[in-house]
Amino acid sequence: MDQFNCIFDYFQGYRVNLIGRVPAGSGEEIQIELMPDRSAPLICGRCGQRASHVHEYSERWIDDMPIFGYPTRLLVIRRRLFCPRCGPVLERLSWLDRYSRVTCRLAEAVGQVCEFLPIKHTAAMFGLNWKTVKAIDKRRLKEKGLGINLDGVRVLAMDEFAIQKGHRYATVIIEPTQRRVLWVGRGRSRESIRPFFEQLTAQQRESIEAVAMDMTAAYKLEVERHCPRARVVYDLFHVVAKYGREVIDRVRVDEANRLWEDKPARQLVKGSRWLLLCNYENIKRERDRVRLDELLAANEALWVTYVMKDDLKQLWRNNRWLIWTYAVSPLSFCICARILFLGRWGTWFESKICRNFFGRSASSTVVLTAIVNAAAATTNSSVQR
Ligand SMILES: [Zn+2]
Repeated sequence: MDQFNCIFDYFQGYRVNLIGRVPAGSGEEIQIELMPDRSAPLICGRCGQRASHVHEYSERWIDDMPIFGYPTRLLVIRRRLFCPRCGPVLERLSWLDRYSRVTCRLAEAVGQVCEFLPIKHTAAMFGLNWKTVKAIDKRRLKEKGLGINLDGVRVLAMDEFAIQKGHRYATVIIEPTQRRVLWVGRGRSRESIRPFFEQLTAQQRESIEAVAMDMTAAYKLEVERHCPRARVVYDLFHVVAKYGREVIDRVRVDEANRLWEDKPARQLVKGSRWLLLCNYENIKRERDRVRLDELLAANEALWVTYVMKDDLKQLWRNNRWLIWTYAVSPLSFCICARILFLGRWGTWFESKICRNFFGRSASSTVVLTAIVNAAAATTNSSVQR
């Protein structure tokens, strides 16, 4: 046994009682039974003080580094100590974390491999459960931190995404120009995104010129609090989605109600929600395109709102802010004024978006539009992921 001491010295406070190679699954594994060394001091796993006596013993299977290519499992007789300060608590071991099912050296090796291989492959390589490897990788990332250098970041884009099957939300903050994730955190409230801004130095906050986001008030308020120089930019994806909800969809319902007498026309309008909200280029079936064309040709209100939607998207590409603002302004274009929801939306758009842009010089508007292009494209792709 002496020649193996270099392997077994690792288990400080324990000695090898039994060792054997046994069949496991389709192959074999090495099993080692470890017994506590009675002469080793009893150290509380919580406060690190000496404990007075052993409270109870329990057996636990622990995975360790493979030996000579064989998966290796340890049967460890774990001691729960009685600490005068903490009460009954597991003893501290230099080679095994409190509730871990893998030794520290195995966790270390798995973590290193995770830097290069996907979790699934790492798990197969070490013969571990996918969830175990994921937990190790997660902890490693947490301890290491992402280590992202936030110097010189001028533009941010932030968005929420659903987690836990849509029951909860998280926020991702990216640097759109570099297409890199800077921060991810649970929640979408002001408090939940605050840690990101608090880690920025005064200089880093000052250097942020624009932040692209959806229309969530929490994001906007928090950005304004920490980065007073930054311009808030609403991104294309969310503005167009809002337009779809608040204009196209409501005009469609209005029009369906107006056509109460004309049953076939009413049915056509009622059943066209998806066609109207969808991007024209995404409508693949010829008969759907024909149906949409017929609908728009027959209904002026829907036609106007639909054309305005396409025009709205162009703003993020062609810098045609002024033209569109005047076109949709409730005071100017008569046809818009007749469509109630479009007029209301125009008021919102003008106050929230256009003034945000035209409050400053025209040259900075051009710069910001370019920023919005990049921000919108990247935020959209992060949303889709
Ligand atoms: Zn203690």
